[in-house]
Amino acid sequence: MSAYDRNNVFARILRGELPCKKVYEDEFALAFHDIHPLAPVHVLVIPKGEYVSQADFCAQASDALVVGFWRAVARVANELGLEAEGYRIVANHGPNGGQLVFHFHVHVFGGRPMSHRMGNMPRPGQQE
Ligand code: AMP
Repeated sequence: MSAYDRNNVFARILRGELPCKKVYEDEFALAFHDIHPLAPVHVLVIPKGEYVSQADFCAQASDALVVGFWRAVARVANELGLEAEGYRIVANHGPNGGQLVFHFHVHVFGGRPMSHRMGNMPRPGQQE
């Protein structure tokens, strides 16, 4: 996978150069609503650091950041009220995974039952 591009859209959101609809932030992570929601709740959680993908994040990030990031994902789902009914988390990796933005991120989907077509998630802007 190619090197981290500091001008990717999520890097620019992290630097405050582009707006986002923020739902949560701590020292490890920022969470905001996806611009093309595919569910009643569709939030992205991104780590504070320059990581292209899940593999890059797990290989390069400190233990504290990996733990802090995943705790933030769980906290976001909790604070959005998704725990009782359930939710889905997805991380797309590389071309075959359908990754479009090359700053590691986790999608949190909730607010309706998810289909079980986990290998065939819709592209942004498409209906499931
Ligand atoms: P992917 O890289 O395929 O896992 O998905 C990238 C996601 O980022 C897509 O669901 C897009 O709708 C979303 N996205 C792209 N630009 C923005 C933005 N400026 N604010 C919020 N979400 C965005």
